[in-house]
Amino acid sequence: HAKQDGDGLFQFYVPQLATDLEEKMRLENGLHKALRDVQFSLHYQPKMSAETGELCGIEALIRWQHPELGMIPPDKFIPLAEKSGFILEIDRWVFHEACRQNKAWQDAGLKKIPVSVNISARHFYQGSLKEMILAGLNETGIEPQYISIEITEGVFMQNIDRVIETILFLRSLGIQISIDDFGTGYSSLNKLQLLPISDVKLDRSFIQGISRDEKKSSIVKAIIELVHSMNMKVVAEGVETADESRYCKDLRCDELQGYLFSRPLPAGQFEDMLRSQSSEHVS
Ligand code: C2E
Ligand code: MG
Ligand code: MG
Ligand code: MG
Repeated sequence: HAKQDGDGLFQFYVPQLATDLEEKMRLENGLHKALRDVQFSLHYQPKMSAETGELCGIEALIRWQHPELGMIPPDKFIPLAEKSGFILEIDRWVFHEACRQNKAWQDAGLKKIPVSVNISARHFYQGSLKEMILAGLNETGIEPQYISIEITEGVFMQNIDRVIETILFLRSLGIQISIDDFGTGYSSLNKLQLLPISDVKLDRSFIQGISRDEKKSSIVKAIIELVHSMNMKVVAEGVETADESRYCKDLRCDELQGYLFSRPLPAGQFEDMLRSQSSEHVS
């Protein structure tokens, strides 16, 4: 946009770079305090069964309420935390909190469904993911079948033996594994086939406008058939319209997630939704 802004090219870029860098440093430096002062919280977004329309899963998504800068979306600070290594602390907090919350809902008599937690690829190479997971399970008392770990395809780029070993360990506990943002990363169908993955989440870019795009819908159809042939489920991410939802159902997606059903909600609001579904369930 610099050119449209006239001739101040030099003046335009330099301050912008400086403020970007300043902002990044400010955020990065604020992460430790954020964890200590409980500025993080989790929002929860439902996954719906395509077949029955019922709530069948929950994804936990982190939010940062910064005391001066307001709500900061994860895309702004998760990459910084991944670079600095602080993501290991954040993932630990998120995992524990999601387990604790889901167990509390279950203990309150609400519908028992799995909660999905996004875990950074970095955690599979460094740090002690196994110990972190075992500690979260032990401290909260949640049963492992009510936990799902979402990882992106990027996890298969390095140290594949260690990644496979970790996935097998998690599965042996009864934890489910999802591949997030499927189709955006480097294709790993070969590796997927070798791993006990529970489901694949088709990235929103494949879902957006699918009903009006023949090329897109035939690609998605092929992916779904392939994933099903490997005995894995397909979750459609980012479903925003009734058209997209109908299309995904017709193409035999197993689960649907997106703003059409609900935005990610704070725990209290999600609980109301869970409560209404739980009573429908009982009656
Ligand atoms: P993701 O795991 O793929 O999560 C889906 C993102 O899409 C979420 O954004 C969600 O709010 C958004 N979304 C859901 N439905 C729709 C829809 O219908 N339309 C559109 N346009 N967007 C939709 P969010 O919460 O901003 O998170 C962004 C990414 O940040 C996540 O992508 C995930 O990669 C990362 N992230 C979020 N929470 C955590 C966390 O606790 N730990 C780690 N390591 N990463 C996280
Ligand atoms: Mg996710
Ligand atoms: Mg995703
Ligand atoms: Mg994503």
